[in-house]
Amino acid sequence: MRVLREIEELSLQEAGSQLHLLAAELYPVCRSISGDGLRATLAAIQERFPLQTVEIPTGTAVFDWIVPKEWNIRDAYIRRPGGPRLVDFQACNLHVLNYSAPVHATLPLSDLRPHLFTLPDRPDWIPYRTSYYERKWGFCLSHNQMLSLEDGDYEVCIDSSLEDGWLTYGECLLPGLSTDEILISCHVCHPSLANDNLSGLVVATFLAQALAEREHHYSYRFLFLPGTIGSITWLAHNPKAAGRIRHGLVLTCIGDAGGFHYKKSRQGNAEIDRAAAQVLRHCGEPAEILEFSPYGYDERQYCSPGFNLPVGCLMRSVWGKFPEYHTSADNLDFILPEQLARSLRVCAGILDVHENNRRYINLNPFCEPQLGRRNLYRSIGGDTPGIEIARLWLLNFSDGEHSLLDIAERSGLPFFEIADAATQLLESGLLAPNGQEVLK
Ligand SMILES: [Zn+2]
Repeated sequence: MRVLREIEELSLQEAGSQLHLLAAELYPVCRSISGDGLRATLAAIQERFPLQTVEIPTGTAVFDWIVPKEWNIRDAYIRRPGGPRLVDFQACNLHVLNYSAPVHATLPLSDLRPHLFTLPDRPDWIPYRTSYYERKWGFCLSHNQMLSLEDGDYEVCIDSSLEDGWLTYGECLLPGLSTDEILISCHVCHPSLANDNLSGLVVATFLAQALAEREHHYSYRFLFLPGTIGSITWLAHNPKAAGRIRHGLVLTCIGDAGGFHYKKSRQGNAEIDRAAAQVLRHCGEPAEILEFSPYGYDERQYCSPGFNLPVGCLMRSVWGKFPEYHTSADNLDFILPEQLARSLRVCAGILDVHENNRRYINLNPFCEPQLGRRNLYRSIGGDTPGIEIARLWLLNFSDGEHSLLDIAERSGLPFFEIADAATQLLESGLLAPNGQEVLK
C-alpha cells in the first residue's frame, strides 16, 4: 500500500507551482540561526500542519556548544552623510553580514573597506556571509557596487541586536502504527536564498502535509532547524527520540536544474541508503550516489559517531559546487517549479519504499508454481512482461530472508514493480507475510 502514491503521481506543473509559491512567500524573510525571521518562517509553516516551536534559552550548553545570543535586525545601510542609501538592507537582506553586531558610525572609506565583502569574479552578485560565533559587523555588496564607492566619509548603520534570548526550531511528530521513526530534517536559517534552504524547506513542508492526512506505518519526525546549532541542540535534548530513528533524510538544494545527488549515511549501507539509490535509479533523471563525508549539512550531527544514525542527504546540485551557492544569484529564478515537484516525488518514493519493505515466504517453493492456471502468466490484458518477471523473482527469493528491497536490487527491477507483484501473489495465496509488518 503506497502511502504517498498520490504525491508520486501528482501533476508536476500543479505541485511545482504550489511549492514555488511557498518558496516565494518565505523568500523575503531575513532568517538567521535565531530571531524573529526564523520564528516568522516557522509560523508560516505552522499554518499547514501541526508544527511545534521549541525555544531554548541563550547560554544553554548542548554537547560541546553553547546556544548563542539571539540576533534580530530592523534596518541597515551605507550612505554619504545626509545622502541617499547606497547599500540598503531593505532592498536585499543579504547586504548585512548575517549576525552582525550593531554599529552606527561615520568613517572614511579606507576604514570601511575591511567590513565589506564582495565577489570579484562575480561582480554583479552579492555574497552571503555570516559571523555567528565571532562578534563582527559588516556589509555584503556586489563588487561593482564597491568599485563605485569614492573616497570620503560614509555613514554606516546596522540597527541589530545581539541579546540573551532564544534559539528557535520547529518540530512535528506524526505518529504512525509503529513508534519507530523516520526523520526528515532541513535547515531554515538562511535569509533570501532559494535553493540552499527554501527548496528543502518547502519539499519537507509538503511531505509533512501529505503524511498528516494519511495513515502510515512509521512515525514521522520533521525538524526545521537552524543549521548545525539546531541539530546539535535537538540531539542534546532528545536522545531517546534519536534512538527511535530507523531511517532519515536531510533535504537541501533540491530545486535547481541539476540532477540528483544522494550522500550516504555514515553507515553506508543503511536501508535509507539503499532505498534512495533504488528510487533514484528508476526516477528517470540523472542521479549520483556520494559516499559519506563529515562535511555538509546536519547529517554531520546525526551521523556523528556517538549517534551514527542512518541519515543521508538528498540534494540536486551539491552545495559549494554551483556558482550561485551562497550568493544573491541563488534566487527564486534559480529554483524551478517542476524540479521541486520531481524532488518531492522522489522523496515520497523513498518513504514509500520504507513503508512497504517486507519479507514474504513462498508457500509453494518446490519448483515454480503454475502461474498460467492462476491467471498470473502471459495473456492477461494490460499485463506487462515486467510484472511476470517480477513475480518469478519474488517467488524465487521469498524465502523469509530476502526483503522486497533485496529482491528489487538483485533483479534490477523497480521496487514498486516487485511490491505490486507481491500484492498479487499474496492475493493468489502463493506468498505469505513473514512475521513483522514492516522491516526495521
Ligand atoms: Zn548554506
